[in-house]
Amino acid sequence: MLRDRSASDLGPGQVGQLVRLAGWVHAKRDHGGVCFFNLRDRSGIVQVVAHPEDRQAFEAAQGLGLEYVVALDGTVEARPAGTENPKLSTGAIEVRAGKISLLNPSKPLPFMIEDEVNANEETRLKYRYLDLRRPKMLGHVLLRHAVAMAVRRVLDRTGFLEVETPILTKATPEGARDYLVPSRLAPGSFYALPQSPQILKQILMVSGIERYFQLARCMRDEDLRADRQPEFSQIDLEMSFVEEADVHAVVEDMLQAVFKEALGVEIKTPFARMDYAEVMRTYGSDKPDTRFGFEIKDCTLIFRDSGFKVFADAAATGTVRGLKAPGPLSRAEVDRLGETVKTLGAKGLAWIEWKPGGPVSPIVKFLRPEELDGLSALFRAEEGDFLFFCAGPAHVAAPALGGLRKELIANIQPDPKTPWSFLWVTHFPLLEWSPDENHWTFAHNPFTAPLAEELSKLDTDPGNVRSHQYDLVLNGVEIASGSIRNHRSDVQRKILSLMGYRPQEMDEQFGLLLNALDYGAPPHGGIALGYDRLIAILRGENSIREVIAFPKTAKGVCPLSGAPSAVLPKQLQDLGIRLDQTK
Ligand code: ASP
Repeated sequence: MLRDRSASDLGPGQVGQLVRLAGWVHAKRDHGGVCFFNLRDRSGIVQVVAHPEDRQAFEAAQGLGLEYVVALDGTVEARPAGTENPKLSTGAIEVRAGKISLLNPSKPLPFMIEDEVNANEETRLKYRYLDLRRPKMLGHVLLRHAVAMAVRRVLDRTGFLEVETPILTKATPEGARDYLVPSRLAPGSFYALPQSPQILKQILMVSGIERYFQLARCMRDEDLRADRQPEFSQIDLEMSFVEEADVHAVVEDMLQAVFKEALGVEIKTPFARMDYAEVMRTYGSDKPDTRFGFEIKDCTLIFRDSGFKVFADAAATGTVRGLKAPGPLSRAEVDRLGETVKTLGAKGLAWIEWKPGGPVSPIVKFLRPEELDGLSALFRAEEGDFLFFCAGPAHVAAPALGGLRKELIANIQPDPKTPWSFLWVTHFPLLEWSPDENHWTFAHNPFTAPLAEELSKLDTDPGNVRSHQYDLVLNGVEIASGSIRNHRSDVQRKILSLMGYRPQEMDEQFGLLLNALDYGAPPHGGIALGYDRLIAILRGENSIREVIAFPKTAKGVCPLSGAPSAVLPKQLQDLGIRLDQTK
């Protein structure tokens, strides 16, 4: 080895030892005839000092620049009293260099290797190898690894087998566009890159694998709005002979180990669980941030005979729901919140402020004392509180107040009750109506099983069939999604037919799965956790790009490699492809 230990191995216990180190020159300063630099390796930083008496080392040190790669032999010495650096784990010592070898110089850097860089993202991605040298980025890589190892340990211990599924495959419907790869051997035919291993993991259950997992790469050709990546990773699993609670328990164990091993944090299991219908009623969102209260309340009964016509009408035909927020809020802020609910489809936002002299609002004059008493009791409204209301059909009022809730939390930034709040949301509707296509479409994926007691509604009321679909939400972010699947092909075919597939199309697109289900498929279910998203949350990053070693920009470009890029005419010829230059 070019070195016999790492920088962070050194401390007061090593004083007097001869050591051999190698790494990068992190910072350098000349001080009254003595040359100092920080040597950085993956483990950390140690200060190196070169004295003029040690001639070779001193001269070599003087010639070093930032990010030069060096190896050195030296002696560990205690730093002179008063010069210790408590911020560094090696801050009590330094290495007095006896010999320094330059292994490789570096060009001047496009940005400094430190946590706060002012380079834009494009530059950081172009020089990702430098970007990843920054301690924070290295921290992301280390945590990602720690999480992967914890996941593998827990799943191995509980009987899961890691199985790889192909990257060159056939389209798997997860609702996005497929990336296609042309086949040279079968001109005119294409592989699809997997949107997820969904069908193949189900087939592994038919194969008798019983417990499968994979850190799976998924590729979806979507418009990269918000924080999406064309390829991302999932902790993907599938289990046979299980019910929802069994899948949830595995995920809870896994996350408990992840939090413990990666962050040293104990999280409590089992996680809270709420039905989709209830979560929509309570939070107006299927991914609420449950670190905070701000529960939505149904005020319909209070306003049944209201003198405020908007509420009375809504109470008769729909619902009136409300939310309490602490004041003070300026009129401009209240107006802004009103705009928010309008963009979410609500007609408007009514409000009442609980002032010392009593409730104040443009609508108060229409309300009877019983109504105000009812509100005061329901919300336990106190001086300074604001009550906000949306009226109308439940499917409009609930998400409007859900959006309001989210904005209030973002604006007020209250102290969370707990730093990590998990919530299972269960029993999502099986189907959603797709007005564009004029048929039902899957709410999550087409393989989810309906609840047994809802089966008969498939014929009479498909829109209200509740399913075995569940999501796991952490601090308002959906981090996992899965379901118990249809293991009977007749049920699967029936659901596909509601989604507008004719038998022949079913066989073309889903034949792979449908055929397998006919050969003794066991009951099964599974889940996939967004690995990148989980790491981003654990590291306090908003964007998953930060925690992926080599991500693409929001435009789907990799500035490091230049992908996507043109190919040679010969390559296209081999594939039998002619480009349409008008595109
Ligand atoms: N295949 C699903 C997805 O990618 C996850 C699952 O249902 O297991 O979201």
